[in-house]
Amino acid sequence: MTAYEELSKEELLELKSKLEAEFEEVKAQNLNLDMSRGKPSTAQLNLSMGMMDVLTSDSDLKCTEGVDCRNYGVLDGIAEAKQLLADMMEVPKDNIVIFGNSSLNVMFDTVARSMTHGVMGSTPWCKLDKVKFLCPVPGYDRHFAITEYFGIEMINVPMTPEGPDMDMVEELVSSDPAIKGIWCVPKYSNPQGITYSDVTVHRFAKLKPAAEDFRIYWDNAYGIHHLYEDKQDYLIEILMECKKEGNPDMVYKFSSTSKISFPGSGIAAIAASDANLADIRKMMKIQTIGHDKLNQLRHARYFKNIHGMVEHMKKHADIMRPKFDIVLNTFEKELAGLGIGSWLAPRGGYFISFDSMDGCAKAIVAKAKEAGLIMTPAGATFPYGKDPHDSNIRIAPSYPTVEELKLATEIFVLSVKLVSIEKLLAAK
Ligand code: PMP
Repeated sequence: MTAYEELSKEELLELKSKLEAEFEEVKAQNLNLDMSRGKPSTAQLNLSMGMMDVLTSDSDLKCTEGVDCRNYGVLDGIAEAKQLLADMMEVPKDNIVIFGNSSLNVMFDTVARSMTHGVMGSTPWCKLDKVKFLCPVPGYDRHFAITEYFGIEMINVPMTPEGPDMDMVEELVSSDPAIKGIWCVPKYSNPQGITYSDVTVHRFAKLKPAAEDFRIYWDNAYGIHHLYEDKQDYLIEILMECKKEGNPDMVYKFSSTSKISFPGSGIAAIAASDANLADIRKMMKIQTIGHDKLNQLRHARYFKNIHGMVEHMKKHADIMRPKFDIVLNTFEKELAGLGIGSWLAPRGGYFISFDSMDGCAKAIVAKAKEAGLIMTPAGATFPYGKDPHDSNIRIAPSYPTVEELKLATEIFVLSVKLVSIEKLLAAK
């Protein structure tokens, strides 16, 4: 295929009118499609319906500790849920605390606690003139929303195929004591689907922060969310790695079963060193008498153990894989070689990240909307919603049906082509 840039003005104009006709045809269908949200589809939710039957009015509702899960008690999670999530998060059972239904909530609380009470005895962040976080970009908008909410200054760190630019991370973290954290989605990252390489994880574990209360916010939301059985990414376990490097307290690891069982009705957990967990429990025991143990019991009895969970994830993969294939194959067929966009083919997670020519992302999202396709707003993958190149677009293929996704991808590709042609014509 000839790159668009090499086409003459006349050729571009001719192509434009042909594509515009195609676009008008799709537009006339009055479609209503959504590729904006990383939500599991109904078919995926149906996979976990058996969970509704594991607890009945006849069930023994005592957990292994002998506590009646219908009642108060057991602050940081019942033993069987801890074991399940500890195995899922690849950490010892004693280094985990189970929370409620959302890991994002735990991350918010973690930042909030650091603001008001400090981290393990250090000055509360609210008493400091400046608090900063490093934000690998593109990244997860809800992370950035938390730090923005607390007035924390966010610094962009570009992602590479191996994870965040570690030269920059090392340089900034070791020189600026106002930098208190970094947001990381280390496996099948949101939105690029990148897994941090061994070297990257080693470099994280070896960081020498200027701030004693610097923490890595390791949000391993997609730890077991593979698409393929034979091609899977591997991520080094960070808690143990930090311990080995003499930095046991430097990381908080977050995860949940949101995209394993039910988003919003799963269980979330934090894994950290003993000292960090002691600090966390101090707030937790004031904040709650305990989380939903019936839900913890339901999850533990339904999955039985990590093997049950891994088998379950294969069923999710069978539903997700064809959807990723549709988007990626269409991109390959329609866009490869045109020089108007690039993308990665992730081996897991929930997203595909697309980079258009600079200055085109907002226009592409707006164009797609004209034809009834809702995309994640351009810029959402950057702090303050500001993509300096206006080029990154997050694609979430999970929710639409396969048929809807075919149409949605077609609209997206047409939008990319049309906006790119306009951009190139403007420069001719
Ligand atoms: N972290 C990442 C990277 C996510 O993509 C999501 C869900 N979109 C979450 C956290 C939210 O997880 P939870 O439902 O546990 O709050």
